[in-house]
Amino acid sequence: MKEIEITVPINLELSKKELYALVARSMGITPESVGEALIVRRSLDARGKNVLYRLKVEGYKRGEEPVYRYKEPVYKNVREGKSVIIVGAGPAGIFAALKLLERGYKPIILERGKDVHQRKSDIARLSREQFVDPDSNYCFGEGGAGTYSDGKLYTRSNKRGDIYEVLNQFVFFGADKNILIDAHPHIGTDRLPQIIENMRLTIIENGGEYHFNSRVVDLITEGEVVKGVKCKGGKEYYADNVILATGHSARDIYRLFSERGWKIEKKGFALGVRIEHPQSLINKIQYHGFYQPYMPAAEYSQVAQIEGRGVFSFCMCPGGILVPASTASGELVLNGMSNSARNSKWANAGVVVSVEPSDISGYEKYGELALMEFQSDIEKEAFMYGGGNIKAPAQRMTDFLKGKDSSGLPQTSYHPGAVPARIDGILPGFITSRLKQALYIFDRRMKGYITPDALLLAVESRTSSPVRITRDPDQLCHVTFKNLYPCGEGAGYAGGIVSSALDGINVANQIK
Ligand SMILES: Cc1cc2nc3c(=O)[nH]c(=O)nc-3n(C[C@H](O)[C@H](O)[C@H](O)COP(=O)(O)OP(=O)(O)OC[C@H]3O[C@@H](n4cnc5c(N)ncnc54)[C@H](O)[C@@H]3O)c2cc1C
Repeated sequence: MKEIEITVPINLELSKKELYALVARSMGITPESVGEALIVRRSLDARGKNVLYRLKVEGYKRGEEPVYRYKEPVYKNVREGKSVIIVGAGPAGIFAALKLLERGYKPIILERGKDVHQRKSDIARLSREQFVDPDSNYCFGEGGAGTYSDGKLYTRSNKRGDIYEVLNQFVFFGADKNILIDAHPHIGTDRLPQIIENMRLTIIENGGEYHFNSRVVDLITEGEVVKGVKCKGGKEYYADNVILATGHSARDIYRLFSERGWKIEKKGFALGVRIEHPQSLINKIQYHGFYQPYMPAAEYSQVAQIEGRGVFSFCMCPGGILVPASTASGELVLNGMSNSARNSKWANAGVVVSVEPSDISGYEKYGELALMEFQSDIEKEAFMYGGGNIKAPAQRMTDFLKGKDSSGLPQTSYHPGAVPARIDGILPGFITSRLKQALYIFDRRMKGYITPDALLLAVESRTSSPVRITRDPDQLCHVTFKNLYPCGEGAGYAGGIVSSALDGINVANQIK
C-alpha cells in the first residue's frame, strides 16, 4: 500500500478512472495494476485563490488486501441478557446501549423526554409560544442535546477511543458515508432525528427497552450499592448496574447528589455570547474574496489567551440558526444548529471565556454547586434583560466594543427575536473585558470580523458541565457506588457528540 496525497479543485468530481490513473502514476505502475484506491481523508484548503480538496488516498496493488474503515456493527439479541439501566438517551446513553447490545447485555433506557418526533412539536412550540417544557426541549428528549444541533462530529478526543467506531455506527444508521473521510464531518439537524430513531428501533428489535416520559428522580441505594432508580410518579426499575448519562443540563441530578452527600466536585466551564455574522461576510473573509456558490459555507475557529484565561469560539454553525436552548422557564440560554446543506444566511458561534472556581465570589454557600448556581444566575439575568420572555438581549459588536447602547439591531436568525441590551450588564466584567480583547485579536486574523453587522446575543453558558460526578479513573464507576457509572458530558468527562458517545462506549465496556 502507498499513501498518496492528491489535490483536486473543489468543483471537480474525480471519476474512478481518473483516480486510478493518478494513483498508478504515483505508484509507478499501470492503472490496470491498481487493485483499490481508497480516499481516507478529505480536507478543504482555502488558503489560496484556487480552493482545493486535499485527498489522502491509499493505493493498493492487485492482490493486496485493502483496509476498509467502514465495518458494520454486529448486535446480539439480548432478550435474555443481564439488564443494565441507562438514564438518559443522549449520545452517551445511546452509544452505551449499542455497545451493551454488542456485548450481550440488555439496556433499559429511561429518558425524561419524548421520542424525537414528539419532541419536535415541543421545540416548535418553544419558539412560537415561548413555553419551555422542562422535560422536552433542545436539550432534553430522545437523542439528547445532540439531536436538534449542528451535528458536527469533529472531535479532538482521539485518545478516548476509536472515533471510527462512532462514525461507522452513524453511517450504519443512515448518515452519509462522507463523514468517514471528512476532516470536519457534520450531519445536520434535518438528518439526525431519523438516525436516532433507527438506533432506537435496532435497540428494541434486539431486546432492549426504551421508556420515555421517565424522569429519574432518585437512586435506590443500599450501603455502597445502587439497586435501581425511582422515576417521577413512583415507578421503580432495578438492575445490577446503572449508567447515568443525563447531560450537563440536568441540574436536578446534581442537586440530588449534593443533597444526599454523594461525591461530586465543581468544575470549570466557559461563558460568553453567541456571535452572529452574515454568512456572506464569513465566506468573503475565509475564502479571501474567492467564494463561489458551490463552495461549502465557511467555518472559523479562533482561540486566544487573555489574562490567564482561554477565550475561544465554540460550536460554530456555518449557514445555521440560533435556537433557545433553555431547559426551564425564567432562564435564557442560546445555542446554534444547522441543517445538512448549511444554507441559511447566517453564521453563528459561541465566543466564550473559561471560568474557574476562583473567578467567582459569593457562591461559596452552594459548595460543589457554586459554578452551577452562578451559571444559572447569569441565565436568569439574560432572561430578564430579554424582557421576561425568550427574546434574546443583543448588542451590535461595534457598540459592545465602544461600550454604548445599540439603537437598532440587524436581522437575526433567532426566531423568538432580539431586543437591544447591554451585554456588559448581563455578563460580569472579567468575562466582557476578555471578550473585548479577544475580538480585536480575532479581527486581526480575520479582517472584517468586527463589523456593525455582527450581533452579540446573550448568553452562551452551556458549553460544558460546571459539575463533575466523581468517578474512579480506571473502572469509570462512581467513587462510592461501584455499580453506578456517571457517563458523558453530564458526568464532566466529555464534551460534544463524539466524545460523549465514546465515553458511553468506554463505560459500557466496563460493565461486568
Ligand atoms: C443546540 C445544540 C447544538 C449542539 N451542536 C453540537 C454539534 O454540532 N456538535 C457537537 O459535538 N456537540 C453539539 N452540541 C453538544 C452536544 O449535543 C452534547 O455535547 C452531547 O449531546 C452530550 O451528550 P450526553 O449524552 O452526554 O448528554 P445529552 O445529550 O445532554 O443527553 C442527556 C439525556 O439525558 C436525559 N435526562 C436528563 N436528566 C434525566 C433524568 N433525570 N431522567 C431521565 N433522563 C434524563 C435528557 O433528556 C437527555 O436526553 C450541541 C448542543 C446543543 C444544545
